[in-house]
Amino acid sequence: EGGVLTFGETMVALRGSGPLKLGGSMNVSIAGAESNVAIGLARLGHEVRWAGAVGDDEAGQLVLRTLRAEGVDVSGASLDPEAPTGLLLFEPRLPELTRVHYYRAGSAGSRLTPEAVECAFAARPPHVLHLTGITPALGPSAREACEQALQLAEEHGTFICLDINFRSRLWSTREAAEVMRAWAPRVDALIASDDELPLAVPPGSEGQENAMAETLLKLGVGEVVVKLGAAGARVHPGSEGGECGPLHRPARAVRAVDPVGAGDAFGAGYLSALLDGEPAEARLDRAITTGAFAVTTPGDWEGAPTRAELPLLTAQPGTVVR
Ligand code: ATP
Repeated sequence: EGGVLTFGETMVALRGSGPLKLGGSMNVSIAGAESNVAIGLARLGHEVRWAGAVGDDEAGQLVLRTLRAEGVDVSGASLDPEAPTGLLLFEPRLPELTRVHYYRAGSAGSRLTPEAVECAFAARPPHVLHLTGITPALGPSAREACEQALQLAEEHGTFICLDINFRSRLWSTREAAEVMRAWAPRVDALIASDDELPLAVPPGSEGQENAMAETLLKLGVGEVVVKLGAAGARVHPGSEGGECGPLHRPARAVRAVDPVGAGDAFGAGYLSALLDGEPAEARLDRAITTGAFAVTTPGDWEGAPTRAELPLLTAQPGTVVR
């Protein structure tokens, strides 16, 4: 088994404690949707590789060092000598509102090449390929890299997971829909927020979630997983799921302190249970559990649970684990 392969842009993430223009100190970490999923999977004990590009700079070293420390294989990652590692700033502006400022245009991550992905595939064909709809929005080279990965995955019979992860700062809904509609029928698991599903269905089929999921399953999507935030999630199993219709799981009741990264943690939990050979219901259950862990801790990935920690959320409030 060649584990999970993923790639995309990972940036240095600076988190302030109030309005950015007032200055003060910031917490330094890293953030990237795909590497968040990779860390989540590594913590759960899975073999996972991240093959993105960073600049040949100290920020890039922070990205690689953090991923390595988390047990993510970065042997397939590349250094771009001609572009810097991207940066993002989190500005908590109101108790319930955080602004994110990106410095990523022209970054090394956005210049990822199809050749780099080909090398990562050749080194060890993966069992699962995880893509997001962020990478193709970064630029033509990154989009080609994803298309190369899709093609190689199809040739090798690799399980393909795609999280739509629409980013309105990077492209329009029209541009995103063009790519997502072309990719969706090729994937085994399509993960989306309920408001992102219209980006993946053919024009004119936008409508209720159930109808859109049905359309996608008919088009060849293996299964459709819908994230509903604090309302939990639903899976629409394909033919593999037999006769059963959509399955819903409410979210776990936790005190949410930071919603960022919930979707990525959810994806990691879903893929983890899939790699363990679990049925749809158990996959959903692990996904809502890892998603809940993410919202209880500040940071994109810091709150991701290890396998031993998975049962912690069922403990009574006020529990002290000695
Ligand atoms: P992001 O892009 O910020 O990572 P997302 O929109 O992709 O998030 P969400 O639907 O917000 O993803 O969250 C993913 C999953 O995490 C949800 O399906 C749910 O299971 C869990 N989750 C999200 N918010 C909460 C919450 N407040 N309490 C418990 N679980 C939550």
